[in-house]
Amino acid sequence: MYHKIVQKIKEFDTIIIHRHSRPDGDALGSQIGLKEAIKATFPKKHVYCVGDMVDRYSFMGEMDIVPNSFYANALVFVLDCSEEKMICDDRYKLAKFIIKIDHHLYKEKYGDLEIVDENEISCASIIARFVFSSGLKLSLKGAEALYTGIITDSGRFRFNCDFKSTFDICSKLFRFPIDVNNIYNNLYIEELETVKLRASLISKFIVDGPIAYLINTYEDVKKYGVSIFNISRGMVGIMGGIKGIDIWANFTEDEDGSVICELRSSKYNINTVATMFGGGGHKLASGASLDSLDKVDLVLAELKKLVE
Ligand code: AMP
Repeated sequence: MYHKIVQKIKEFDTIIIHRHSRPDGDALGSQIGLKEAIKATFPKKHVYCVGDMVDRYSFMGEMDIVPNSFYANALVFVLDCSEEKMICDDRYKLAKFIIKIDHHLYKEKYGDLEIVDENEISCASIIARFVFSSGLKLSLKGAEALYTGIITDSGRFRFNCDFKSTFDICSKLFRFPIDVNNIYNNLYIEELETVKLRASLISKFIVDGPIAYLINTYEDVKKYGVSIFNISRGMVGIMGGIKGIDIWANFTEDEDGSVICELRSSKYNINTVATMFGGGGHKLASGASLDSLDKVDLVLAELKKLVE
């Protein structure tokens, strides 16, 4: 499969890399890492990263502005995205050939060629394996982006995975002088409002037996004054790592009334509940988009069934 991908890269002069919207460190790390690898190996090719950006990860690099006309003869990669509705920037459909690379639990086929490895801790580690196995070159920026993807999706090497092969791929990335301190400084630095918000949300979440949950209305979101991403994905973790809490859920209402639902567990496969509501992800970390806050009770009822 890697061989076919290299063939496709060789075939196209224009390569555009997409990923899911509201990107996390892994989506951006995979995207920037792959761009850097292709550019380092084939300097004459035109390689672009597209999509929305979140402040939290802006230190990793910038997105490119790509006119529609570039797509007609382009190869498109879609990374870290299990289903089409999550892909940021619909124009990926205009490409001549689409390659999907992902590590979430399988949801649907899209594109002309796909690599999905559900056992990989991150999409960035799949990209790194592809780069090293195919003999592609890489740059320091690419190595740092891929390493950032791996550390963010693995919870800084906490979540269960094939540790040996994960550390093995990291040791290859460390052939480059990765500035770990700088990456961690960027990942851990927070706005004062975010720290204060976390403190207030810690006293706000509700505990119902082994399930903890937090509901943020759009009114709350406006009042908090931080991005919806910083509340939904950014705050779900405050309910984790607490004795007796096995499942935690964060519901955040968006401007249009839809609700971002983030589910996490230390031992139950909450992915089954996420897929029931049209979402996806991993066994212990998944998400879904709900039509409205009215659906929250239904999700909680399904989570209760899991623990009973
Ligand atoms: P990851 O992108 O690997 O960090 O996967 C876990 C996160 O992805 C969770 O925050 C989920 O909310 C989100 N996620 C992954 N796939 C989906 C999906 N198909 N629908 C909704 N959320 C998803």
